[in-house]
Amino acid sequence: MEKKILIVGTGLAGLSSAVRLVNQGYKVEMVEKYHQPGGRLNQLKASGYTFDLAPTFFSMSYEFNELLRDCNIKPLFEFQELNPLYHVFFRDTKKQYQLFREPEKLAEQFNEIEPNFEQNFKNYIEGAGELFHDTIDRIVKRNFNNFYSYVWAMMHVPPKHLPKLFRTFWQELEKHFTSNEVKEILSLVAFFLGGTPFNTPAIYTLLSYTEFIHDGYHNVKGGMYNIVEGLVNYLTEKGVAFHYNTEIVGYHTNKNQQLEYLTDTQEKKWLADLFVINSDAAHFRGSVFQRTAFTEPKLDKMQWTMAPFTIYVGVEGKLDKLGQHNYFLGNNFKEYANKVYTENFETDKPYYYVNIPSKNNTDAAPADGEALFFLCPVPDLRMRPDWSNKEQFADAIINDFEEITGYQIKSKIRTLTIIAPDQWETSFNLYKGSGLGLGHSLKQIAWFRPKNHDEKFANVFYTGASTIPGTGLPMAMISAKLTVEQILKNYGSLS
Ligand SMILES: Cc1cc2nc3c(=O)[nH]c(=O)nc-3n(C[C@H](O)[C@H](O)[C@H](O)COP(=O)(O)OP(=O)(O)OC[C@H]3O[C@@H](n4cnc5c(N)ncnc54)[C@H](O)[C@@H]3O)c2cc1C
Repeated sequence: MEKKILIVGTGLAGLSSAVRLVNQGYKVEMVEKYHQPGGRLNQLKASGYTFDLAPTFFSMSYEFNELLRDCNIKPLFEFQELNPLYHVFFRDTKKQYQLFREPEKLAEQFNEIEPNFEQNFKNYIEGAGELFHDTIDRIVKRNFNNFYSYVWAMMHVPPKHLPKLFRTFWQELEKHFTSNEVKEILSLVAFFLGGTPFNTPAIYTLLSYTEFIHDGYHNVKGGMYNIVEGLVNYLTEKGVAFHYNTEIVGYHTNKNQQLEYLTDTQEKKWLADLFVINSDAAHFRGSVFQRTAFTEPKLDKMQWTMAPFTIYVGVEGKLDKLGQHNYFLGNNFKEYANKVYTENFETDKPYYYVNIPSKNNTDAAPADGEALFFLCPVPDLRMRPDWSNKEQFADAIINDFEEITGYQIKSKIRTLTIIAPDQWETSFNLYKGSGLGLGHSLKQIAWFRPKNHDEKFANVFYTGASTIPGTGLPMAMISAKLTVEQILKNYGSLS
């Protein structure tokens, strides 16, 4: 018998769920608030320049291959491996580092400031790698249908990793390295998780292993949005209908605790047998299903990841000294990190990331120009609700960039777009502008994260960054896999 699934949201987790579900014989329809698919994995075009809107690279590229292999799909996009992974620039010392994947080449960058770097790095990464392999299948890539199965799985993680639950990312680095610059650079990955190394548990040092050793970082030839276009084309061929500019705001149930339909802002009814919510799993439960555990005051008490302040600049001229992925840091790392997600955040000397897609993709900018995407992590709207000064802040970032790099880009700007946290919130329903969704404290991961099967409506499932396992593109792919596993467990395959 045919079963129809409505997916709310066309982010990577929504699209990947759709691919898996059509392959299991389900009829899929998708609704999306934004005007085009992809969610945060989106694209911005302006005056002949093309920018990745948010994600610019990813780890664990094999998760994409797994989706395609599982569904018997030929490659839809081509990966490009990054090496160096990124460049780091320090504002005051003017020092620059390139983060190579090979330990010997990496050591050459750091030998002056951390004389025993190669051995220290080896020891650090060994522990991170063991933790990765001991937990990835046992904890991360798993559905836990009851608390005991979670405790049971945790009990089977080798006890040698236990201390990492009680240390911070920074404390783990302090055990291995003496140079502050080395620690600062190796801890940048904690910001990718939306936290800081001073509040992120040391278990996430496993990310150092994924970035340097396991699979490195990749992006996509022709731009990250090729992932979305590839998946949407495939789904369209399979008969999936997409409806954009459609925001779900209400619902209706039948007597059997089943969701009957969702409603959009025009009060149109969206009927289906099953529903997959790719909108934020915590926020949606509160704002649409009106669940008492997810009211605004309760959501406000949860830990949310950084809010993005982003600038998209098309300039005339080439910036040859820079790489495709560049970090700009000051000389007050700890003080800055401790303020960056608080109301005390100051906008004068920011730390930020600059992506230059035109370095590897000639279509991203005219031949005589460069496309630049600035990302500065800032506090979310709970702590800084007013972004009416966004132009001044963007100016401060660009001034700083000019000062550090020596490139005077301001007079050569052909296009400039600023997206502050309030716009990130309204565009994609990101709670208070939090860019990566719920944070990854021990109280908000695995069993404790909002579940991917609804507590009340048996026919409602969630997928994406704020349900299991967490944020980032590979996690969104894993999330889709886990969600579809839950659906198949409950409703079976129809193919
Ligand atoms: C600035 C920035 C930079 C990032 N950089 C990276 C990176 O380099 N590498 C990486 O791996 N990750 C990165 N991330 C994280 C990554 O983008 C996310 O983890 C991932 O894209 C989340 O996918 P998702 O499917 O869970 O959610 P989303 O992409 O948010 O998709 C959810 C979709 O649901 C829609 N929606 C929400 N509510 C409703 C509703 N009520 N009705 C209809 N539609 C609705 C939204 O509009 C959205 O399209 C970055 C994130 C940001 C913000």
